[in-house]
Amino acid sequence: MADYKVIVAGAGPAGLAAAALLAKEGMATALVAPAAAEDPRTVALMQPSIQLLRYLDIWPGILEARTSRLRKLRIIDDTGSLLVAPNLEFDAPELDLEAFGWNIPLGLLLPVLRKRAEDLGVVFIEAAATGARTSGDAIHVAVSNATEISASLCLAADGANSVMRKSAGIATDTWSYDQTAIATSFAHSMGHGDVSTEYHKAAGPFTTVPLPESRSSLVWMERPARAEALMAMSDGELAAEIQIETHGELGLISNLGLRKSFPMKGLTARQFAEDRVILIGEAAHVVPPIGAQGLNMSLRDAALAADLILASKDAGSDGLVAEYNALRRSEVLPRQQLIDLMNKSLLLGLLPLEGARALSLAALHYFGPLKHLVMQHGLQPRHNLPFAMRAS
Ligand SMILES: Cc1cc2nc3c(=O)[nH]c(=O)nc-3n(C[C@H](O)[C@H](O)[C@H](O)COP(=O)(O)OP(=O)(O)OC[C@H]3O[C@@H](n4cnc5c(N)ncnc54)[C@H](O)[C@@H]3O)c2cc1C
Repeated sequence: MADYKVIVAGAGPAGLAAAALLAKEGMATALVAPAAAEDPRTVALMQPSIQLLRYLDIWPGILEARTSRLRKLRIIDDTGSLLVAPNLEFDAPELDLEAFGWNIPLGLLLPVLRKRAEDLGVVFIEAAATGARTSGDAIHVAVSNATEISASLCLAADGANSVMRKSAGIATDTWSYDQTAIATSFAHSMGHGDVSTEYHKAAGPFTTVPLPESRSSLVWMERPARAEALMAMSDGELAAEIQIETHGELGLISNLGLRKSFPMKGLTARQFAEDRVILIGEAAHVVPPIGAQGLNMSLRDAALAADLILASKDAGSDGLVAEYNALRRSEVLPRQQLIDLMNKSLLLGLLPLEGARALSLAALHYFGPLKHLVMQHGLQPRHNLPFAMRAS
C-alpha cells in the first residue's frame, strides 16, 4: 500500500501549485523539499496563470493587493544596430482584457501558495529527495531525513538541477548564453502607468516591470563581466546606471531592493515524463527571462499534470506519462526555440539575425491581425487549456 497518491519533489512555485491543485481534489499528496532561500525575483504572471491562482482561492486577496497589473507592454529597440526595429506597444484593452497579467514578488507568492497547500492537506516533508526506484505500480522516493516514501507517481519540480530527473535516467540538452541576468527592484520619481518596458540592448533585454507605489522590478541581462561589475556597485552607483539605461523615462531612480545574479542558460529534458516520474517547471525546461514565459509555462505543466492525474485510475500509468510528454513537449519546445532565437538575435550582433528580428517586429507593428495573434499567443495558447486555467 502506497503512502500517498502523488509525491511532489520541490517547493518552488511549480511544485507548490501542483501539490495544491491535487490536494484541492482530495488527492493524498506529499511535498518533499528543503527550506527555501530568499529570492528577490518577481514573476509576471499572465491571465491563465492568474486564473490558476483564482481557482486555488488565493486570487485576488493579498496577492492582488500587493502587486501591480501589466496594462501595456512595450518593446524598444535600444541596440544601436544599423537595422532599427520599430517600437512595439501591446495594450491589454486590445484583447478586451483589464491587464495582460500581474507582477508578483516570489517572496510573496511562495508563502501564499505554501499556506494554501497546507490548508488543503498537503503533507510537507522538509528534506531533499535523493532518488527514486519503481516496483510494480509504485514509486519509492528516498528522502534525506527519513526512510523511503511511496506513491503512484512523483512530480519532479526540483528545479534545473533536478535530482529526480537524473534518478529517472532522463538526459538533457543544455546550453549557456554569454549573459548574466541581474534581478532587483527600485523606486522611481515618475509613475510607470502599469507599463512594462523591454529595452532590447546589445547584451540582451533590460526589462522594467511595474510594482505598487512607484516601484518597478528589473531584469537586466548583461555580459558576465559587466554584470559582475554592476553587482559590485553601491546602491547609489547602480541607481545611476539604471537611470541611464531607462533614458530617464521613469524619472529619478532610488531605493534599490535586494539584488541577485543568474548566469543565463537553457535546458530541455529529452523526455518530460518517464516511468512514474513527470517533470514540471525548470526540471523540464529552462529559458532566459524574455517575454515572461518561464513560470507561466511551468504552471501550465502543473495544471496539465493535475488534469491527467485526476482523470486517471492509475496516476503513474504508461498512458498518462506518454500523454503528458507529448502534450507538453509540443507546446514548450517551439516556445523555447523562439525565445532562444530572440535572445541570440540581440546577443550575436549578426546582421541577418538582427534583420530577421527587425523585420518580425516591423511586421507586428504594421499588421494588426498578426500583432493580435502574437499577443494572444504570448499570453499562452488558449487551446488545450488545463481546467484550472480556464476562466469560469
Ligand atoms: C531573473 C529571472 C526573472 C524571471 N522572471 C519571470 C517572469 O517574469 N515570469 C515568468 O513566468 N517566469 C520568470 N522567470 C522564470 C521563473 O522564475 C522560473 O521558471 C520559476 O521560478 C521556476 O520554478 P520551479 O518551481 O520550476 O523551480 P524553482 O523555483 O527552481 O524551484 C525548485 C525547488 O526545488 C527544491 N529542490 C531542489 N533540489 C531538491 C531536491 N533534491 N529535493 C526536493 N526539492 C529540491 C528547491 O529548494 C526549490 O524549492 C524568471 C527567471 C529569472 C532567472
